[in-house]
Amino acid sequence: MRECTGLRTRERAARQRGLALAMALTLLAPARATSSAKIRLHGYITGRVDDKVVLILDDRLETTTASRVAGQDSSGEHPMKAEELAAGMLVDAEGQWLDRHKFFAEKITVDLRDSEKKIHGTAYLQEEPAEAGKIGAGDAGRLKLDGYLLQVSANTKREWNVAKVAAAPSAGAAGPGQGQLAACHVKYTGIRRRDGTVEAEQIDLGPPAPPDAYKMPHGMEVVQAKDSQTGIDILEFRQGKKVQGRLKLLEERSVREYVSHLGDSLLPAGAEGTSRPIEFRFFVVEDPSINAAALPDGTLLINTGLLGAMENESQLAFVMSHEMAHVLQAHYKREADETRGARVGLMIAGLAAGAFIGDLGTFMAELGIASVVNGHQRELENQADRLGLQNVIEHGYDPREAPNFSRVIINRYGDRSTSKLWSNHDSSLIRGSFLTIQLQRAYPDSTWEGTRKNTPAFQKMKEDLGPVKIM
Ligand SMILES: [Zn+2]
Repeated sequence: MRECTGLRTRERAARQRGLALAMALTLLAPARATSSAKIRLHGYITGRVDDKVVLILDDRLETTTASRVAGQDSSGEHPMKAEELAAGMLVDAEGQWLDRHKFFAEKITVDLRDSEKKIHGTAYLQEEPAEAGKIGAGDAGRLKLDGYLLQVSANTKREWNVAKVAAAPSAGAAGPGQGQLAACHVKYTGIRRRDGTVEAEQIDLGPPAPPDAYKMPHGMEVVQAKDSQTGIDILEFRQGKKVQGRLKLLEERSVREYVSHLGDSLLPAGAEGTSRPIEFRFFVVEDPSINAAALPDGTLLINTGLLGAMENESQLAFVMSHEMAHVLQAHYKREADETRGARVGLMIAGLAAGAFIGDLGTFMAELGIASVVNGHQRELENQADRLGLQNVIEHGYDPREAPNFSRVIINRYGDRSTSKLWSNHDSSLIRGSFLTIQLQRAYPDSTWEGTRKNTPAFQKMKEDLGPVKIM
């Protein structure tokens, strides 16, 4: 099931989600009493307990002989056995909660299009490839791409013409003409190897994304300003002279500086190679929801609710690296392109003078970029996760804290029968299980001993932040 993009389909999807949510909620109370109460779990299998039980993160999916298991691909559904369920499979389970973290699956549908071994994709290089010379000469070499390490051999088919790429209109003045390939596009296919690297079958080098991929839509500019009445720091969404929206920034300077320094320290080298150099800026927004957002122009919004829920620096470094990947991979533009230019018009109703944005997700939807807050389609979220993991690993952090943060959210909302429960459980389950699988697949031999989990600077930030409202 490919998630839809484009406003109409997205609205429909949102309505369907809303409907599913309403159903889940009405069914929640009697869920354990009636047999007709169906709940759905969606995520990657992270392990197997025995013949009948598999895990999605910490949730046990139990099956009996009465459970139906089927694989689904473009040609339809094919019956499978429960024993065939394996780590890495993306599944949709329908059933009921028996207990906390214990789920009885009446039906499990496996997405067979999500192949275990053979992979393909497209990504922008987030740094200058160290062995570009060898690759260009048709030799063997290693290429860091899309959160993977590609092993290019003499047998790898390749289209690697740097001169041709440099001549592309989007290459810009600082493009590959200077021998710079960071931010260039690469399309690849390959086979996953046991050691976690990818044996490249084909790689095609392309030009960087055009400059408008790193701009806000509708000529919008994001500017830090001061509220004229109160003097507090705010972030304004300006269109010409008109202010379309405002966000309240956290006052505590030490917290802002900490977040900003951490962000700068995590920047991948690709940020300077883009056709329009991205100026990453990090803002702490007074907002109780556990969320962060990346705007196409490199503005990262970190909510106070997120900082309040974070347990250590490794978790925060991962979330920020994930958000940076959304920007560097031009995900907003990719989604806009894939809906065939169905550019969404500006729908902002206009704010009363001096009013603040109540709900950032709604505001971004009015701008036509709801996905920056609500999440992109699954492949793009997975890509940001792979790149985020690779980035924190290279910066010496313990990457296991990335799936652990999904657990924090699941546990925080897991016992509450609010709407948050289902929306967050679902998305956190899929993210947490994907991160677990990606660590198993791409770094099978790593123990993460000696990696960094927390720092005194993070602890001090938490103290300075003090208790914050979390929703
Ligand atoms: Zn994301």
